[in-house]
Amino acid sequence: MSDKKESNKMEKIVGWAKRRGFVFPSSEIYGGFGAVYDFGPYGVELAKNIKENWWKVMVQENENIIGLDSSIFMHPKVWEASGHVSGFSDPLAECKQCHSRLRVDHLLEDIGVFADEKMSDEEINKLLDENRDEIKCPKCGTKGQFSKAKSFNLLVKSNLGNFTEDWNKEPAYLRGETCQGIYINFKNVLDSTRQKIPFGIAQIGKAFRNEITARQFIFRKREFEQMEFQYFVHPNEAMKSYEEWRERRWQYYLDLGIKEENLKWHKHENLVFYAKAAWDIDYNFPFGFKELEGIHYRTDYDLTQHSKFSGKDLSYRNPQTNEKYIPHILEASVGVDRTFLAVITDAYTEEKLEDGNKRVMMKFPKKLAPIKVAISPLLKNKPELVTKAREIYNSLKSQYMCEFDDNGNIGKRYRRQDEIGTPYCLTVDFETLENDTVTIRDRDTMVQERVKVEKLEEFLKNKLK
Ligand code: ATP
Repeated sequence: MSDKKESNKMEKIVGWAKRRGFVFPSSEIYGGFGAVYDFGPYGVELAKNIKENWWKVMVQENENIIGLDSSIFMHPKVWEASGHVSGFSDPLAECKQCHSRLRVDHLLEDIGVFADEKMSDEEINKLLDENRDEIKCPKCGTKGQFSKAKSFNLLVKSNLGNFTEDWNKEPAYLRGETCQGIYINFKNVLDSTRQKIPFGIAQIGKAFRNEITARQFIFRKREFEQMEFQYFVHPNEAMKSYEEWRERRWQYYLDLGIKEENLKWHKHENLVFYAKAAWDIDYNFPFGFKELEGIHYRTDYDLTQHSKFSGKDLSYRNPQTNEKYIPHILEASVGVDRTFLAVITDAYTEEKLEDGNKRVMMKFPKKLAPIKVAISPLLKNKPELVTKAREIYNSLKSQYMCEFDDNGNIGKRYRRQDEIGTPYCLTVDFETLENDTVTIRDRDTMVQERVKVEKLEEFLKNKLK
């Protein structure tokens, strides 16, 4: 896709998301609040369906994966042990021309130079200097005019529970990632369930990062939600298990309905010192292939660190062999918001109709569609049609997310339901009053068929299963 087409698609998606109640910029009446967004009435349904599907696939369908909901706040030592206080930073530089703050690793990436995550300021500045003339500011287009890069810590501080003047010295952080809550509960989970290694702990929850470059819509937010799973394994089993999980996570996206041509593996060449393997699943966002999910083999680093800093033994004893060891950890971590962006990018469809008109349709997989069935009376000023339509709506609403829609004319309603991705539109017309049948219109084919009201439940069950 050309640059112009790409930005065009992004603009269309951002406009659609607001117009149709999926994503709103936060605090818009106050001029917005950088890189913070709200889910609107349909967005919250889509996000909920994404989370429920992840939970079902990861927790419900795996006997040896259990859930957890740890707090956003944790003891400040957690973030020292994890390395976040000293090393959770991105290299920041300023464009001397337009004063935009930019991530140097991203500027380098744009010209095909990849920086190691753990590089010192000195090393990253060397890379920046070597490539300076080639690098362009993405905001104003000026080449080579950047300040020196400086590490900028991404942890978001709070003053929770600290009543002294200088709370800044020992702040409680808003968690920068959800997985630390899993590591510090490893022993609790082990002692309170009958799990034996290998087993996993899954969690969905908010994370906060003071991201430097806040652009690309909901791809990079400062408050976002992660769906993470940490799998505890014997070191000898780790690599085999890692490869199996890579395959399963790829399959998860296909089962979610994502087009395979929009997915790509990205292998990390520069691993952090404790990691043995790291691959990302990248998605073809309107601005190119970028990380959707990270799948990492983190060795025994996390539990070793927390053992050291807490003074608590976090090793595991095999009940059969008595072998004692610190389990190795495999992790698969994905953002709800990035999945949301991938799903809407994948679903956004413009179609030219036979009558020359264009329709915008969100081809959501049925399980993700915010509204499953829309129910309408053909005319809103005919009480007998409205009463019947309401009756049907009331009989279906406990099973499916339904919408009663009597706005505008029927054509407009269909167009609106197509735009929010509703798979089925059900219309009560005059024939309904004669033979108790309704029309059901299929979003994708636009074909309408008549179905007996008494057969509706069965019909929808088959179609939406
Ligand atoms: P990036 O390199 O894009 O900053 P990351 O490698 O720091 O991402 P991880 O720390 O591995 O990301 O987080 C796991 C997942 O959480 C990512 O794959 C992504 O889906 C999601 N995620 C991370 N940061 C953000 C953010 N600022 N906004 C939305 N989602 C995010």
